[in-house]
Amino acid sequence: MQQALPDVAVVGAGIVGLSTAYALLERGVEVRVYEQGAPGNGQSGGESRIFRHAHGDPRLVRDTQDSRAVYDEWSERLGVPLISGDGAVAIGPSVDDSLPLLQEAGVAAHRLDSAQLAERLPALASYDGPAMVDERGGSIHTRAMVGALVEALGDRLVTDEVLSVRPVGGEVEVRSGGRTDRYRAAVVCAGRGTDHLARTVGLSIPVEHAAHVRLTFAVRGAAPARLSTLQDSSGVFGETGVYAAASADHTRFAVGLSGHTPVREDGSVLAPGDLEDLARRAARYVSRALPGLDPDPVEVRHCWVTRLPWGEDGIGVWEREGILFPVGHNLFKQAPGLGRKLAAAAAGEPLPDLLRPEARLGAPPA
Ligand SMILES: Cc1cc2nc3c(=O)[nH]c(=O)nc-3n(C[C@H](O)[C@H](O)[C@H](O)COP(=O)(O)OP(=O)(O)OC[C@H]3O[C@@H](n4cnc5c(N)ncnc54)[C@H](O)[C@@H]3O)c2cc1C
Repeated sequence: MQQALPDVAVVGAGIVGLSTAYALLERGVEVRVYEQGAPGNGQSGGESRIFRHAHGDPRLVRDTQDSRAVYDEWSERLGVPLISGDGAVAIGPSVDDSLPLLQEAGVAAHRLDSAQLAERLPALASYDGPAMVDERGGSIHTRAMVGALVEALGDRLVTDEVLSVRPVGGEVEVRSGGRTDRYRAAVVCAGRGTDHLARTVGLSIPVEHAAHVRLTFAVRGAAPARLSTLQDSSGVFGETGVYAAASADHTRFAVGLSGHTPVREDGSVLAPGDLEDLARRAARYVSRALPGLDPDPVEVRHCWVTRLPWGEDGIGVWEREGILFPVGHNLFKQAPGLGRKLAAAAAGEPLPDLLRPEARLGAPPA
């Protein structure tokens, strides 16, 4: 069947652009997705991410619940499990702050004693401090998700770099390497390129750019039946901002520290040695905290990070004359829900106030 001419352009085939484009198709809106490189190989690259509901901002807890519901729908429709059923574990003092917010929002989360924790996370060393599990959290199967969305989009996805987007006579003109086209609306999901394209329409987005590294380790012995994700704020094993997520087959665990190294205005990394230091600290953490892993990493993932100044999980969507610019960090868990809201706005519905930058979604409560 011949496709109709696209109404909406999406710039970028990371998880946000792919989710937005798929949500447009769900609404019957034709779309063209521009990707300059390989889909899902920017900030969305690598195997696994954490899906968790725990956030300091209760509005973001609810927004994540919306996203989880869309994950379920898409898993079913695409025929691919997108999130493991292993739960998201947190240990350390953050548990006392997070658990009441989760329970108030109706998220299935509860405390774990040390035996229950060992059952959820057999790779973890003995620990008897505060611990909890978010039962509907878990490891996102990132590569399976990107692959399924790319397949669903088919030849709506084109390999091309967008140089500019601008409003022209009530439409949006998109100029890319090989073509100039006009659309009813455009959604710029270009990751670290989003604020650059926003400047072409006079918007200045206060995004902070940084570089980050995460290591992946092999699980020793047979793969455990269950391998929850981990967030460790305890300091018991020498670090306070640790996150980890499992591969779909439970044979690998990717571990990172929440630190980043800043990037200059021209895009260059300020102190590349910081990345080596972060990687060394992550490996040292593994040798202390996760005896169930082989401490020699099997994969190293370097990546760019784009964060809003109001919080690690902050999200904002800037809008100018039919062009939307979503920005934030830790967007994998939000992507299906965010994609649906961006698709609705690109199709002519109002953008929810919660997503506007003035709402500072994801800001920790004062
Ligand atoms: C190591 C690591 C761990 C993380 N852990 C988590 C986690 O546990 N949970 C979570 O929810 N999130 C996590 N995140 C964050 C999450 O992965 C990102 O927020 C998310 O992937 C961003 O997706 P995106 O689509 O906005 O950007 P990207 O994936 O970067 O996609 C943008 C795409 O746009 C393309 N592009 C850019 N400019 C142009 C142009 N001019 N023309 C055409 N194409 C263009 C790029 O090539 C790229 O493919 C983590 C990130 C990293 C790196």
